[in-house]
Amino acid sequence: MSKTRIKVLKSITAAAVVLNLLAIPMVPAFADSSSSGSKVNLRIMETTDLHVNMVNYDYYADKPTDEYGFAKTASLIKAARSEVKNSMLFDNGDLIQGNPLGDFVAKVKPLTDGEVHPVYKAMNLMDYDASGVGNHEFNYGLDFLKLSEKGANFPIVNANVYKDDGDKDDSNDVNYFTPYTILNKKVTDDNGKEQTIKVGVIAFVPPQISQWDSANLEGKVIVKDIVETAKKFIPQMKKKEPTLSSRFLTLASKTFHRLL
Ligand SMILES: [Zn+2]
Repeated sequence: MSKTRIKVLKSITAAAVVLNLLAIPMVPAFADSSSSGSKVNLRIMETTDLHVNMVNYDYYADKPTDEYGFAKTASLIKAARSEVKNSMLFDNGDLIQGNPLGDFVAKVKPLTDGEVHPVYKAMNLMDYDASGVGNHEFNYGLDFLKLSEKGANFPIVNANVYKDDGDKDDSNDVNYFTPYTILNKKVTDDNGKEQTIKVGVIAFVPPQISQWDSANLEGKVIVKDIVETAKKFIPQMKKKEPTLSSRFLTLASKTFHRLL
């Protein structure tokens, strides 16, 4: 019996406000469903480096801009969604730092427990499936990051940041974030039948954040090598969800090869 084939129609990276070559893309993995020879088309969309640019406003020039802004990107996402039966939306991080609004929420009128950070308030409206943690997420310290992320109504993953337990023993290290997630995604196949597929999501940050944000991170977290971390967790993901396709590994290794 043939397996459901997942075809990624088109991947768009929307609204790269400030391109950051160090951002490590998240890697979605798709499950081969055990049914019926049908085919599922799934559009994957990803935003990255929003850097607090939620509206199309240039805070430095103090005027609206047509150059960037998540409010504009949201229209593109809605249009892209409406073109297909099945789509998913991810974000690759670098969300809470990067413009005066970010500084305002972190420092001038600091976010309090129970408040939702404006970045997540906007993103929550767009039904994100998951997000990774970006390297700039650490710029205001770990406590602010954790407080901010509480407002997200979607899972946020990172696999290679660990609590610094002060010993040299690798085997007892504990992840600082949820390392990966496996989502149940309801899709409609080309026969019009609803199916649920499994989508694994894992994300990494550049280990260099230990130096870039040493004042915020030293003694609190350690960051491990991306490839080593992927080799540790991907088999765990496959063990937990055996239907995850080996295509995942191909996709992951291509991604790492391109970036590292
Ligand atoms: Zn960035």
